[in-house]
Amino acid sequence: MMMTIEPGASVRRGGSAVLEASEKTFTDMILLGPPGAGKGTQALRLVERFGIPQISTGNILREAAAQGTPLGLKADGYMKRGELVPDDLIIGLIDRRLREDDCERGFLLDGFPRTMPQAQALDGILEMMERPLNLVVALEVSADTVVERNSLRRCCLNCGATYHLKNHPPRRAGICDQCGRELIHREDDREEVIRRRLQVYDSQTQPLIHYYRANGLVRSINGELPVDEVTAILARMVEEGTRE
Ligand code: ADP
Ligand code: AMP
Repeated sequence: MMMTIEPGASVRRGGSAVLEASEKTFTDMILLGPPGAGKGTQALRLVERFGIPQISTGNILREAAAQGTPLGLKADGYMKRGELVPDDLIIGLIDRRLREDDCERGFLLDGFPRTMPQAQALDGILEMMERPLNLVVALEVSADTVVERNSLRRCCLNCGATYHLKNHPPRRAGICDQCGRELIHREDDREEVIRRRLQVYDSQTQPLIHYYRANGLVRSINGELPVDEVTAILARMVEEGTRE
């Protein structure tokens, strides 16, 4: 959350950590964009740079499915078909996650909200927490790019790193550079499912850009640019929306 505090002042948050204001930034933000726009790739870079957590509902659901939890079992079929998981499952999950300690200085939502009821629920949660949203970044890419990037994407379920067989291949085929685990080709990254996910994005998620535009929160970035260029633009946007 964007905070207005005197440089050099100390802030006591959560009753324990004393943070030096001059060192800290506070940002509550959403990354919006179709599957394959680069949300996860950019989120990992922003996490490193700004020290706020990435909250990826897709990653949370995949982990739940891999562990066979009740949430994972309920979500799995929707995910494999490229459909959205019902709102009530996702909203409760986000409500709990945003109240965790690591979100105190901000958070980066990746893959949430995806429907109007989710966006409205998020407004309610943030209102209760007395922290406004600072920034919504829309990453824009063409339908052809969506299909190409998702088909060639390979993922590490252990550390969340993603690769692209042409643009950003792992050093050793099939193995994650970061943690050495085996990479997977997500079941929903096959062409028929990708096309369904894109339809779902266009009908249910894309309208959220207009919703947030009305609040003056949206900044758009051409997601077709090289990864480093997108990161540089994004980092500038975060810094512009943040006070020391
Ligand atoms: P999302 O989280 O939006 O679904 P990802 O970050 O997983 O998308 O990116 C999808 C695929 O595209 C990955 O294989 C990633 O390596 C690749 N990718 C991401 N951003 C770019 C970019 N700017 N240029 C080229 N390839 C990219
Ligand atoms: P992602 O990793 O963001 O591409 O999401 C993968 C899949 O998880 C989606 O196709 C949905 O089935 C499900 N999912 C992730 N986030 C949400 C959400 N906010 N609402 C509903 N379903 C979601």
